[in-house]
Amino acid sequence: MTIAEERIDRLHALARTAVREGHEDRARTYVRRARRIAERNRCGLDRSFKRFTCDRCDVYLRAGDNARVRLQDGHVVITCSCGAQSRYPYH
Ligand SMILES: [Zn+2]
Repeated sequence: MTIAEERIDRLHALARTAVREGHEDRARTYVRRARRIAERNRCGLDRSFKRFTCDRCDVYLRAGDNARVRLQDGHVVITCSCGAQSRYPYH
């Protein structure tokens, strides 16, 4: 694991905790910071991080807290509290 990946991993955990504690703005800050590190280092965000961040408002999505997850036509549909939806194929 590179230093960049370790930092991203740490920010991922911090964002998840922030959402759990109701601090969505703090979670957005961590998500944006992680994205910046990923861009600068061209290492990309891991898939789970990508999936659990909202493309519109950058918040970390946590099912049951600020995100609704349901299955539809073989897809996972995640709805953020801002109203944005993302769909992924269900494996
Ligand atoms: Zn959102």
